Amino acid sequence: MTKSLPKVECIARARIPTTQGPDIFLHLYTNDQDNKEHLAIVFGEDIRSRSLFRQRPNETQQDRMIRGAYVGKLHPGRTIADKDDRLGLQLHFDTNGELLPDYNFTTWDSAKNSTLVRIHSECYTGENAWSARCDCGEQFDRAGKLISLDVEPETGIKGGNGHGVIVYLRQEGRGIGLGEKLKAYNLQDLGADTVQANLLLKHPVDSRDFSLGKSILIDLGIENVRLLTNNPDKINQIDYPPILKCVERVPMVPIHWTDANKGIDSKEIEGYLRTKIERMGHLLTEPLTLHSSEQQQHITKQEQHSCSTHNTANTETDSTIVTSTTKRDNAKIINA
Ligand SMILES: [Zn+2]
Repeated sequence: MTKSLPKVECIARARIPTTQGPDIFLHLYTNDQDNKEHLAIVFGEDIRSRSLFRQRPNETQQDRMIRGAYVGKLHPGRTIADKDDRLGLQLHFDTNGELLPDYNFTTWDSAKNSTLVRIHSECYTGENAWSARCDCGEQFDRAGKLISLDVEPETGIKGGNGHGVIVYLRQEGRGIGLGEKLKAYNLQDLGADTVQANLLLKHPVDSRDFSLGKSILIDLGIENVRLLTNNPDKINQIDYPPILKCVERVPMVPIHWTDANKGIDSKEIEGYLRTKIERMGHLLTEPLTLHSSEQQQHITKQEQHSCSTHNTANTETDSTIVTSTTKRDNAKIINA
């Protein structure tokens, strides 16, 4: 039985020029599950939200431009949202006002082009407070970089070449909120690991829910996903065939593991990553000593895995099984 999907609606979209290179299009979503402002950071003007572009009764072309439901690029004096004369682009709609995708000109064809996707959960400390307790900030930056690039020179990983989506879900601290996360940090300073700390606070180990991410990707017309993750549970939560298929897992190996001079180097993050691998079943290479140069030589090249090879074996909750599965996976990466 498949659980019905949350309903999402994109209420606004805007172009954001970035310091990293390409413009991105920030999409703000509402939904029927919570009152939080979940986001999609979209690379590529032609990846279109169906709910945003749907025509609304009595709205003007100006209204549509203000909501961000326009094709091409805005410029002073432009009056029509559905048509960009300068770029020669025009959108078409059916009689119900639904966008008719035009895969040759105005709409990204995700069935033909697998799309690089990251489902990212908000982490205030990792993204804004320079925290070295976790790698969320690094993963967020890396996802944006990979989506922009054709190929990542250091690893040979195929990027998105300017097309891709980072879904940004407001579920701070694995879903427990920032206040509780700060308490968990104090418990970690008292000797608990991240899993024990959550349990001591009477929270689940991980209360995140990625189903909103699934609905947002479907709304954006994404079909075939190359998912940037080490988390097998995320792969299972996103896969929704035949509408949304995870066709490849692209691993996110910590930068510090491949280059000792870069990335996050702290005692706290070693413990954090170790717990992710050993107790949460994350599919990461597990160096026995994170800083030994011998290990680092082994992890110079990342292997891109097909999702299907990981879907069944790694979802066990028994930590013993998870650990042994992870070790099998490690062997695969190290031998690659
Ligand atoms: Zn974090």
